[in-house]
Amino acid sequence: MLNIVIFGAPGSGKGTQSERIVEKYGINHISTGDVLRGEMKNGTELGQIAKGYIDQGQLLPDNLIVDMLAKTLDGFQDSKGVIFDGFPRTIAQAEALKAMLAERGQSVSVMLDLDVPEEELMTRLIKRGQESGRADDNEETIKKRLVVYHSQTAPLIDWYRQEGLYAHINGLGQLETITNEICQAIDAVK
Ligand code: ADP
Repeated sequence: MLNIVIFGAPGSGKGTQSERIVEKYGINHISTGDVLRGEMKNGTELGQIAKGYIDQGQLLPDNLIVDMLAKTLDGFQDSKGVIFDGFPRTIAQAEALKAMLAERGQSVSVMLDLDVPEEELMTRLIKRGQESGRADDNEETIKKRLVVYHSQTAPLIDWYRQEGLYAHINGLGQLETITNEICQAIDAVK
């Protein structure tokens, strides 16, 4: 089982690289952001709750996200593994993921940290907002998301270093070059 955590600030390219990894390794993909946007689009109760947090650039409460993730995980059958994109985003979520996988006799194989300079993140997200109309990709909300990333999510870098699972990836440059660096990190733990 290949359980990959793809990590990085908003705009670091997690979604784009995840698609490539899914294609190459034939594993399942969970993007918490995509699941939440689906819930919002369908106007579910979770979607309505999520909207309040997402519009403010804040994280949803850990228990809501962890429950949602467990349900998605249980929906996968005969899975060769999973790429977790946008999860975990707090230490509590990382601990919950560890426990959830341990219950299934599994563990995280590697954490890939897509490292991209702050100015580049801003440029990419503003462009994405203009092209996709994604409501949280506006300058004000992006700034809040980056603050949340630094205060609540970035501490996971040290957490995964201590677990011996950390892999640094240079997230700036040609898509293909980044994918190659990612594949090397995955093949090293496969
Ligand atoms: P990005 O990484 O570009 O910020 P995502 O699509 O991963 O975008 O997430 C969008 C929003 O969804 C986040 O700003 C947050 O409000 C919410 N969200 C996604 N994943 C989580 C999570 N693991 N915990 C809490 N909130 C989350």
